[in-house]
Amino acid sequence: MKKQEIDLNKIQEELEGYIEPNMNYCCQCGKCSAGCPVVEAYEYKPHQIISLIQAGQMEKIINSNTIWLCVECDICSTRCPEKISIASIMNHLRVATWQKNTKKDKNIAKFYKLFNFMVRFFGRSYEPGLIMGLNVGTGRFFNDADIAADILKKRKIKILPEFVKGRKEIGKVTKKYQ
Ligand code: SF4
Ligand code: SF4
Repeated sequence: MKKQEIDLNKIQEELEGYIEPNMNYCCQCGKCSAGCPVVEAYEYKPHQIISLIQAGQMEKIINSNTIWLCVECDICSTRCPEKISIASIMNHLRVATWQKNTKKDKNIAKFYKLFNFMVRFFGRSYEPGLIMGLNVGTGRFFNDADIAADILKKRKIKILPEFVKGRKEIGKVTKKYQ
């Protein structure tokens, strides 16, 4: 994948201008970070991300693991006294920077690309294809193989894919995120 130049000033303007203008009201209370389920794995916590954006230190954010580990559960946003949608900020940062292909996000970028392909092809996510494709793509062929039998026995995922109506239209939407 070709390494792309990213206009960080533009991304910062988009975030402050229309993605989440409320972020300027952040009082650094830390309630967002206190409720985040994956905060321990982050290099920068949610309230620190807001602070870095305000300080124009976008490079630090996109070279960290934080935006790639956020699961968009929205707990941070519901806890925020200023109703700042941190999940939207994380999502915008991911979409705007994923093609940068930094070493840190190499496997995550593979996941992102594969997920997009599945949604384009089936009209929705197809978990077995995603798991197998990712294991092959990352060279970790037997990753999580020990729990596969339990997952299938409990019918947590379906073996055969489902084809969703209107998947061509869905495919057109996902194309811009390739
Ligand atoms: S909860 Fe809201 S106001 Fe408090 S630090 Fe997080 S983003 Fe800022
Ligand atoms: S949306 Fe992301 S940052 Fe916010 S609580 Fe969930 S995982 Fe943490």
